[in-house]
Amino acid sequence: MDVAAVRRDFPILQQTVNGHPLVYLDNAATSQKPRPVIEAIRHYYETYNANVHRGVHTLGTKATEAYELAREKVARFIHAPSAEQVIFTRGTTESINMIAYGFARPRLGPGDEIVTTAAEHHSNLVPWQQVARATGAALKFIPLQPDGTISLDDVRRTVTPATKLVAIAHVSNVLGTIHPVREIAEIAHAAGAVVVVDGAQSVPHLPTDVQAMDCDFLAFSGHKMCGPTGIGVLYGKRKWLDEMEPTYFGGEMIDVVELHQSTWKETPWKFEGGTPIIAGAIALGVAVDYLTGIGMEAIRQHDRALTAYALERLRRVEGITVYGPARAEQRGGLVTFNLEGVHPHDLATVLDAEGIAIRAGHHCCQPLMRWLGVPATARASFYLYNTEQDIDALVNALQTAKEFFHHAIG
Ligand code: PMP
Repeated sequence: MDVAAVRRDFPILQQTVNGHPLVYLDNAATSQKPRPVIEAIRHYYETYNANVHRGVHTLGTKATEAYELAREKVARFIHAPSAEQVIFTRGTTESINMIAYGFARPRLGPGDEIVTTAAEHHSNLVPWQQVARATGAALKFIPLQPDGTISLDDVRRTVTPATKLVAIAHVSNVLGTIHPVREIAEIAHAAGAVVVVDGAQSVPHLPTDVQAMDCDFLAFSGHKMCGPTGIGVLYGKRKWLDEMEPTYFGGEMIDVVELHQSTWKETPWKFEGGTPIIAGAIALGVAVDYLTGIGMEAIRQHDRALTAYALERLRRVEGITVYGPARAEQRGGLVTFNLEGVHPHDLATVLDAEGIAIRAGHHCCQPLMRWLGVPATARASFYLYNTEQDIDALVNALQTAKEFFHHAIG
């Protein structure tokens, strides 16, 4: 992978921030956008902006074709059996809520169980709490090992014949843990449960094959994979999507409307009520082309090499605690840590003065922060345009910050 060439594709990386070249290490929050993605949005609005699935005029037809082509590209990217199994949403959060409202609520009741982990992003926890409250189902948690991984024996012990749904992130946005979703799906299916995979941190970083994974649903966000904000995906197995209720009702999603009742279009259009996110979907298709052009396997290797390098360098800094699995092979491209005696917000502020963007806080994982026994952490997260020099800049700035704070405190 030619990282220097990749970097040239991202205009935002060419700037200085607070007098320093930008070192962007907040990719788990959102990724930067390459020129072809930005261009695709401009091109749409400048040359063929029109509503989809309605007009018979030339621009309307062109917009519809581009929108549906984006669906096909996304389907190929995740190895979905058909493009109709790809629903465009606003992002992971909306996708998971659609499953919660349209699929889980009508099916679950008292005595049923939803199984998840304490390491989930709030987007993959709070919707299930709401389902549990509304239906009387119980929420159960697969225990975490000391390094944040989960054991399949614990999955087997937690999933019972009462389990109707297992919801888990493929990659944790805090610990970076890659969970064995294929094996978890096998255990869940044997118990008669469906599996919802939160792919927000995995689809941008790992080759994804929904058929090999055998998940029932997969949710992810375009903005973390070089696409724009406001567009995401819900993938589902055909039989579930056909059975699932739409969440939004109105224009575009209907077949026949009478005064007192209506029927819906086929999957996936029944889930896309109202004018969809046309430019966003088209641009996500271009982001998928861009990532495919570089190669998801190459991106994974790059993330892994950077993570191994970061783990090794950070562990040598006295006073740093790194959370999560020990080896880069077990992780996505991110490292979460704390510097003894320094609040991560203060750390992030000092690093920002050096042009280094990292994330500090609870990362939408308050239960996991409680499990770690800390109020917050710092997180550096990598993507295809990051380099070892970025990590060197981070570690050097951490050393300086450490001296600064120890002087300030001492
Ligand atoms: N799940 C995980 C694991 C995430 O990292 C995120 C984003 N931080 C989300 C869900 C939510 O994604 P979005 O805000 O794009 O809906």
